[in-house]
Amino acid sequence: MSPGRHGKLIVISGPSGVGKSTITREVSRRTDAEYSISATTRPPRPDEQDGRDYRFMDRDAFERMIEQDRLLEWAEVFGNLYGTPAEPVRLAVRDGRTILLEIDVQGGIQVHRKMPNAEFILITPPSEAELRRRLKDRGTEDAASYKARCTQAVEELRLARKSGAYRHEVVNDDLEEAIEKIVTIVNT
Ligand code: ADP
Ligand code: 5GP
Repeated sequence: MSPGRHGKLIVISGPSGVGKSTITREVSRRTDAEYSISATTRPPRPDEQDGRDYRFMDRDAFERMIEQDRLLEWAEVFGNLYGTPAEPVRLAVRDGRTILLEIDVQGGIQVHRKMPNAEFILITPPSEAELRRRLKDRGTEDAASYKARCTQAVEELRLARKSGAYRHEVVNDDLEEAIEKIVTIVNT
């Protein structure tokens, strides 16, 4: 796959379980786009590694990052804090590299205010039932977290559409098709 001609900021959002991580991982493999590693207070899942999937930290450390203005955006999602470290994004944009943020819609809206020329992509499920199935089959959430994520999904899609921030909507039905659509956006 040919690399993007110039550096870009790509923001990918969508409800939990829609396939964002799966897609983002593959897009960064097939293109020059680099995955931005978020900070979070959420505990790691068994297959997650600090520094690869997230920078895992306690609430105090996260709040210090906020106070020191070291986050491009941050939000509380399902009771945990998540945020994008600003410095790697600033350097990538300066050096003409392409960087991919996989963040929730509240965060996407904050980035849109600061950097409206970024590409904003909303990933949507083929149906609510399919979204619930994927979340359940992933097997990472307890009953309360599963329920919260299903409820929040509808609200997140509504908020994203209302904000007008997301220029692209990609349905993740056939995974390969969804990946290729995003690869095209990255490389255009
Ligand atoms: P997110 O990062 O949006 O929370 P994940 O990437 O973890 O979602 O995907 C949730 C689950 O759905 C995973 O088990 C993943 O393998 C599966 N999945 C992703 N895309 C598809 C697809 N197009 N069809 C079927 N299952 C999918
Ligand atoms: P998860 O706990 O499933 O990894 O992520 C939960 C939600 O937090 C997802 O919607 C994900 O996109 C979002 N998220 C992950 N990193 C960030 C971030 O840096 N900022 C914001 N605002 N949301 C994030």
